[in-house]
Amino acid sequence: MSQERVSYLDNASYSPMDPRVLEAMLPFFKESYGNPSSPHAKGSEMKAALEGARSKVASLVGAERPAEIIFTSGATEGINTALRGVAARNRDRGNHIVASAIEHVSVRNVLKYLSKNGFEVTYVPVDSNGIVDVDAVRRAVTEKTVLVTVMYANNEVGTIQPIKEIAEIAHSKKAYFHTDATAAAGKIPIDVVREGIDLMTVSSGDMGGPYGVGALYVKRGTRMEPLIIGGGQEGGLRSGTENVAGIAGMGMAAELAKAEMEVEGRRLSEIRDGIISRVLKGIPHAFLNGHPTRRLPGNVNLRFSFIEGESLVLSLDMEGIEVSSGSACSSKTLEPSHVLIAMGIDHAEAQGSLLISLGRRTTKEDGIRLTDALPNIVKGLREMSPIAPPEVR
Ligand code: PMP
Repeated sequence: MSQERVSYLDNASYSPMDPRVLEAMLPFFKESYGNPSSPHAKGSEMKAALEGARSKVASLVGAERPAEIIFTSGATEGINTALRGVAARNRDRGNHIVASAIEHVSVRNVLKYLSKNGFEVTYVPVDSNGIVDVDAVRRAVTEKTVLVTVMYANNEVGTIQPIKEIAEIAHSKKAYFHTDATAAAGKIPIDVVREGIDLMTVSSGDMGGPYGVGALYVKRGTRMEPLIIGGGQEGGLRSGTENVAGIAGMGMAAELAKAEMEVEGRRLSEIRDGIISRVLKGIPHAFLNGHPTRRLPGNVNLRFSFIEGESLVLSLDMEGIEVSSGSACSSKTLEPSHVLIAMGIDHAEAQGSLLISLGRRTTKEDGIRLTDALPNIVKGLREMSPIAPPEVR
């Protein structure tokens, strides 16, 4: 078998952990132990580690007070806590929620659950680049709206949303604003205070920390109920003895992301733009999904007419290049991505999409390897495609 290096370009599905994060976690599996709620020295040491990590996450997102950061088991839990917690506590004020049409399934399914339990959800559309229609948000929000939820950046097409404007609209009707920043946190600057964010979900894994850990920013004074009830840890919003090793890892990942964001963002944007321009110039009937400039530095989403993304993924894999089709989280299903459909792309075209997500370990050579391999693969698949017109075969 070939020992050739694999080009891993599927960081939106899973980001490998930074080795410096592992170093920060190791002491908590070896010599450091204790319950952070215990008053003795070992407990205090753990408490200090917990609070240190809290300050680092707070600093990454611009939170005024570290206590506004609640550690969770990941983005899905953060989203459940935010959406269900705010809905339950504010039911007396109204039963209406506004969300974008391109939210991640972890938000969509919570909204589905809430709509079966007395809430009404209005989904606002996006334009062909995946930007949320701000005027539609303005029309959707009413006195009955208790929550507006719009993701900071989309995990499939990388489009970055006008968060500040949307938060202002939510506040004009006294609704809370939540954003799922799983795909954006640690990649692009976020300032919860300046942008008027009340609740924000962040995951550790997606920013180079361990998976199974996350954080929820909850602005002080936000009326909400906890999802997990017990010993009252995390300000009463998330009970249970804390995963200190994982949280310390997340703290380190947040610190590194903050320190390296600018340089890393520039490096990845350059690789991203190189891939996009080589593909669009070199392959006929190839298109970019998502906004040309308002997009995450590591996101490339391309569409190739007359072929299936799944076949592209398998062909690239045989050449040692690992990418994802359609959506990084749901490529197991053969359904086309709801994000691409919401952007007005038809089903057959959406099926021909490829998600290439870059990360800390991605090099320029990985990008070149991809764009060297793609033209022949695309040509070969089109030659076999029953739906390709003769002139493209
Ligand atoms: N939101 C977005 C935008 C995501 O990309 C993901 C998956 N990485 C999630 C939520 C859910 O994250 P997790 O599976 O880590 O809970």
